[in-house]
Amino acid sequence: MFRSTDAYFQGRTAILASKHGKEQVIAPAFAPLGVTVVVAPDFDSDRFGTFSREIPRTGTQEEAALAKAEAVLAQMDTDLVLASEGSFGPHPQFPMLPSDRELVLLIDRRHNLVLRGEVRSLETNFNHATVSDLEEALAFGAQVGFPTHGLLAMAQADPPPNTPIFKGIQSEEQLQRAIATLQAYSPRIHLETDMRAHMNPTRMQVIAQAAAELVQAMAQGCPRCGWPGFVVCEKLPGLPCALCGASTSAIKANRYRCQHCLYQVTVPRAETVADPGHCYFCNP
Ligand SMILES: [Zn+2]
Ligand SMILES: [Zn+2]
Repeated sequence: MFRSTDAYFQGRTAILASKHGKEQVIAPAFAPLGVTVVVAPDFDSDRFGTFSREIPRTGTQEEAALAKAEAVLAQMDTDLVLASEGSFGPHPQFPMLPSDRELVLLIDRRHNLVLRGEVRSLETNFNHATVSDLEEALAFGAQVGFPTHGLLAMAQADPPPNTPIFKGIQSEEQLQRAIATLQAYSPRIHLETDMRAHMNPTRMQVIAQAAAELVQAMAQGCPRCGWPGFVVCEKLPGLPCALCGASTSAIKANRYRCQHCLYQVTVPRAETVADPGHCYFCNP
């Protein structure tokens, strides 16, 4: 169904607005499109907000990613830019569980395109704790993949001005030193997972999934006009129950839409009947 988008992307170089090693997972995802990914030199993504409190992020995740991409477009002689942005919090469907929402965004000025890859994953170590000593700190660390995953330490969750914030803690010695220093400010210390990509291999894997989603969107050209990004815009429920034939909440078909010419196609799923477990009548 999809038209090839080779003419749009083959042989181009995309500049990645990042400094936290995300190119390790993003560059390989783009190789099949013939796109080389290069990190923007001297790009300070931290001025757009940090997870470690120094600079609060303004706006939504999407706005933050757009701001980074726009900054690179303004600074450099390029027309193809990538930006990535993560956010962490309760999963919308399972509010008891933490989730990681990763967005990888592409701006192509040559073709006036904005495309995105987005994944929300329950695979995350996003967590925090209050501890009084190294033993409690190590017990928390054991739950969150320390030391292959980094930690942040500060006097309180909302640290008073001019108190130290320790980032990228990746050894017991560093953790011990941070606790000893912070105990001068507070008997109980706030620890949390360092969510920066280079400190968090679990997050890096979710960024890889979001990059793969973006690459897939880029590769799917509109059947009518050829524009990249012919992706699912709507999932249509109503797959009939295998037992009684009533329509269920299971997805019957996916609707694709072109951003450019607005052409739409509805593609039925390969499955023609739903498991009766989804049926309101057979499994009330
Ligand atoms: Zn189209
Ligand atoms: Zn039924």
